Amino acid sequence: MKFSPLRPPAASLLLPLLLTATGLAAAEMRAGTATTDRPNIVLIYTDDLGYGDVGCYGATKVKTPHIDRLAREGRRFTDAHSASAACTPSRYALLTGEYPFRINNWGPIFGRIGLIIDPAKTTLASSLKRKDYATAVLGKWHLGFGTKTPDWNGELKPGPLELGFDYYFGIPTVNSHAPYVWVENHRVLGLDPADPLVFGGVPPTKLFPEKIIEAQAMSGAKAAHDLYQDEQLGTVLTRKAVAWIREKRGTPFFLYFATPQIHHPFTPHPRFQGTSECGRYGDFIHELDWMVGEILATLDELKLTDNTLVIFTSDNGGMLNEGGQEAWRAGHRLNGELLGYKFGAWEGGHRVPFIARWPGKIPADTTSDQLIANLDLLATFAAITGQPLGATAGPDSINLLPALTGRPAKPLREHLVLQPIAQKNVAIRSGHWVYISAQGDGGFGGVRGGPGSVAFSQRANSDITADGKIKPGAPPDQLYNLAADPMQSKNVVREHPEVAARLIALLQQHRTDPRTAPMP
Ligand code: CA
Repeated sequence: MKFSPLRPPAASLLLPLLLTATGLAAAEMRAGTATTDRPNIVLIYTDDLGYGDVGCYGATKVKTPHIDRLAREGRRFTDAHSASAACTPSRYALLTGEYPFRINNWGPIFGRIGLIIDPAKTTLASSLKRKDYATAVLGKWHLGFGTKTPDWNGELKPGPLELGFDYYFGIPTVNSHAPYVWVENHRVLGLDPADPLVFGGVPPTKLFPEKIIEAQAMSGAKAAHDLYQDEQLGTVLTRKAVAWIREKRGTPFFLYFATPQIHHPFTPHPRFQGTSECGRYGDFIHELDWMVGEILATLDELKLTDNTLVIFTSDNGGMLNEGGQEAWRAGHRLNGELLGYKFGAWEGGHRVPFIARWPGKIPADTTSDQLIANLDLLATFAAITGQPLGATAGPDSINLLPALTGRPAKPLREHLVLQPIAQKNVAIRSGHWVYISAQGDGGFGGVRGGPGSVAFSQRANSDITADGKIKPGAPPDQLYNLAADPMQSKNVVREHPEVAARLIALLQQHRTDPRTAPMP
């Protein structure tokens, strides 16, 4: 099921909703004006920010006044999800409106992998480009470059610029992995041909000794590495974002601001270090909040606030790494009261903060419990800019505009597939039910995830012992009623076989869909 105002079957259903919800005059809606038809769009896509990591979602050990301002001036969603609990597939879903399992992508990719998005596909950027938007991605890319593998010393192509972005500046993979350089458009910034970047070698410098991870080690390219300083990431990217917005004022623009905050290693600028009550993890959130504040202040100063849709969300849930554990011990709850963490199929892995602000269109200081996903932004932005998506674009994307601007009586989504990193644990949500197709959460093992993390977090789950093991005799799969049991404490798969059967059949439909690549 898909909704898009210009698709014939949906048009008659949706247009009255839009008109009622937004109060726009019918003539204005049909004609489209510069102020309503093409708002600027700023999409702040944070990394590993959990459901409980910001003030307006309940955090008390960190202060996030700028993110909280967005919630006060916009709508906060309480049941928003990333289609995947990991960085790369989450970004694939965001940009294409397609489940990552359709191309058999389940986990993060690193520095040797080519671009995983087919440049022929419609993306958030290419869709808006058709409406003459200026488009940029600033920050973490993590979707690969090149046809088969990146040419780090040559042209990094195809990449963001082949997917509809006019400009790219950022971190090519992730701040915890090589190559630890900036990339601008098609090239590594500051690269000296006489000192090429080499993957797999022994690093000649001690610049990043703590981050050399087995075959991800790199050598050479000292000048390019020198330009990349961990504690400057947030400052550099924010400066870039502010300058780009200033440059593009006067034309509709789409900024995809993909912050490395708050992925480990937690490297806030020194001015944020020691400012939170939960260690470096919280300090990195403080830096993120400052970054959001700078963007909002720039929109205010340029008088763009009223005509800009700002969306703030995260690529997956909070991760229980060493910094996350330190924060937890200090009383911070990364994912609020939800069970589980990044990478896993339980709610903490993929339910994320999601705030949308668009003054005059989205009612201020409101919340919504609609089930929504990052997948849905493609159809939503297409609807906002009044364009058809076409027959094949964004096959899993649903137009959220009715839930942004109004109060639909029914759920917009009939169901949502949720991917942990382990294929066997794929989950599916329908109404208040969520089914998980194996034991555990299919994420990281040990204390970092799965049953071990349940014990660490002092949570109870009917399948798991107090010391963090799957109980003998636990069912082979899981079903939770999130309305009655939002913390997923009781697996009721044996009590509701008919619900489980319905969700298994729905999952099977996706597996056998001709648009899904065969799974190994
Ligand atoms: Ca992430």
